Amino acid sequence: MKIRTGFVSNSSSSSFTCAITDETVIVRDGEWCDGYQSGIAKCVNDHTFLTKFIDLNAKPASASEKIGDLLALISDEYGEIKTGLTQEEEEKCQNGLSENEADKLYDKANISALFDYYKKVDKNCDFARIEVPAFRCPICKFKKVEYNDVIKFLLVDKLGENATFEQAEKYILGELPPP
Ligand SMILES: [Zn+2]
Repeated sequence: MKIRTGFVSNSSSSSFTCAITDETVIVRDGEWCDGYQSGIAKCVNDHTFLTKFIDLNAKPASASEKIGDLLALISDEYGEIKTGLTQEEEEKCQNGLSENEADKLYDKANISALFDYYKKVDKNCDFARIEVPAFRCPICKFKKVEYNDVIKFLLVDKLGENATFEQAEKYILGELPPP
């Protein structure tokens, strides 16, 4: 089991905005780790969105996507999800797998338990503490796009890759002269 330590801040609560609907969810300090009801999921690239947007229909098309599911499966620090893998196999997943090993372990692992878990959090009865692989994130897959990201993306050649959303907005409003 991977022990997650991240996402606890000094403030007493943090708010997360669903990047798709703009809904805000307030999470009290520590809940991200400890598991309470929030209905917010986070992908490996730090996109936050309501758990109902986790793409359960996506099929892993490569070894690395299979490994993404496997890592999500074994990331449950409470051990509530029965992974179907031995401790040794779980460690192997974390240390890197060949394509062949990824195929084998994916077939052996209890991936449906991961889906059951995702569906459970979908009903907001538990907290999404499992990190969602990029191929199940609607934002990573460009199926749903964050408004801020679009603005920045469209203005990359005007403002450069590192432009902030605020700069982009000012540029659009004519408050920032083109560089
Ligand atoms: Zn993402």
